[in-house]
Amino acid sequence: MSSVAAPENTPVWVNVKRCKACDICVSMCPAGVLAMVPAPNSTLGSMIEVIEPDACIGCRDCELHCPDFAIYVAERGEFKFAKLSEGAQKRAEDIKNNHFRKLS
Ligand code: SF4
Ligand code: SF4
Repeated sequence: MSSVAAPENTPVWVNVKRCKACDICVSMCPAGVLAMVPAPNSTLGSMIEVIEPDACIGCRDCELHCPDFAIYVAERGEFKFAKLSEGAQKRAEDIKNNHFRKLS
């Protein structure tokens, strides 16, 4: 159960007040849905962003591994998730090779 209300028609969302920008969810995501983006106004310097929500396959790896309970995934009955595509896998690999940062 999340501590923030589930936004309508959204596969994955973040409570940014809890996020410590640790990169773990980005490293776990097989579909390149998540990436770190610069956050100059944050002491952390970067912040997680859901960059490709339509590619989320609902595997929950991000939610299960987040040490701060800051990221949440919709229930299967509430959202029709994507299938893992080669393009999504390639984007995930590219993001990881880019130090977990969003590709420019
Ligand atoms: S694993 Fe959790 S705390 Fe770490 S970047 Fe992702 S949402 Fe933020
Ligand atoms: S549920 Fe899986 S595919 Fe969706 S953002 Fe989390 S790790 Fe990525």
